[in-house]
Amino acid sequence: MKRNIDFPGGWIPDEEEACPARQEEDVSGMVRNGMELRRLNRNRIFRAVYESGRVSQQELAFRLGLSLPTIAQNLRILCEEGLLKEDGSFASTGGRPARGVSCIRDARLAVGLDVTRGHVSAVLTDLSGEIVRGIRRAVPFSDTEAYYRELGEIARKVIGETPPERLLGAGVSFPGILAAEGGIRSSHVLGLGARQEEDFTRFLPCRAMLCNDASAAGRAELWGREGENSAVYLSLSNSVGGAILLGGSLYEGENLRAAEFGHMTLVPDGLPCYCGKKGCLDAYCAAGILSNGYGGSLDAFFTALDRGEKAASSRWDAYLRSLAVAVNSLHMAFDCPVILGGYVGAYMVPYMERLRAMASALDTFGGDGSYLQPCLYRREASAVGAALLFIEPFMESI
Ligand SMILES: [Zn+2]
Repeated sequence: MKRNIDFPGGWIPDEEEACPARQEEDVSGMVRNGMELRRLNRNRIFRAVYESGRVSQQELAFRLGLSLPTIAQNLRILCEEGLLKEDGSFASTGGRPARGVSCIRDARLAVGLDVTRGHVSAVLTDLSGEIVRGIRRAVPFSDTEAYYRELGEIARKVIGETPPERLLGAGVSFPGILAAEGGIRSSHVLGLGARQEEDFTRFLPCRAMLCNDASAAGRAELWGREGENSAVYLSLSNSVGGAILLGGSLYEGENLRAAEFGHMTLVPDGLPCYCGKKGCLDAYCAAGILSNGYGGSLDAFFTALDRGEKAASSRWDAYLRSLAVAVNSLHMAFDCPVILGGYVGAYMVPYMERLRAMASALDTFGGDGSYLQPCLYRREASAVGAALLFIEPFMESI
């Protein structure tokens, strides 16, 4: 599980308690006052416990370069706030055994809803982004009060008995483009024009926020990866989209339309795209390119492929050729991992080596294609990413 350590260059000195108002310089080179330093230290201690699972005060002091009294004081506060708990003791080689501390991961929870044309998925996640409870219901989208009421009902069901003070909020991911001034600009998949955020969220029982589905999935994928701060996420679902994550943040573009990879021109004057243009990547790499003719089922397509059926093999070859060109272009542009997600991404693991070899053959710099990674979440990446809209800021605020 990836967690940002705010100060990769070293540790923050802990003398601030003696002189709270003093301006100090920490190792990141930024001048911070004592109050902020104390909060940052508390945050680092919380994150260190969170990442460790279970750890002793001594280990924390050693690892973070903070004094034992500073560690003890912060642990006491974090325990009082219900975020950490004492957790047994570690065997000692002499003297008193060291007491352990661990994180209460469900101290706060968040809801993620993913709206698609045919389904609604809802997850309740804890502070580590683990799904505590999930629901997937076949509910065809309709722009009606009855539909939005059902969204609210699904959210209430997944929230269950969670006390309101532990619930951070609900993120709602949808397949479409947000408007810079707030709300929705449009959704081709849902057949929607401009809408207010409130239209979607008015029946949800907590505060809520909308997000693009591929951006949410990319956020979840990066969150789940140790030590990676930047990645391009390519979503291969009923439409092709993606997310650009740079330095741990989503790059959204001036019009919130960054990472619309589906409409990069792959073949000039090529196959028609639903957007009205020709030759877009979407026309070559959307999931339907594989599942059409197999009852719309990717499972059926990959079963046929694994059986060695000729029609499926040649369709897959053409698909991979297009995909290799697209991922090579993304890698040339961004020089970072490219994660393959969406409906097709969930099936990619057995075919990664072949795709890597095809991408490698196109690589100007002779790379081996190891920048290509299959997605971690086979399902519900968008719903988890929507919940992270509330988890991430909370983790930063501790
Ligand atoms: Zn297009």
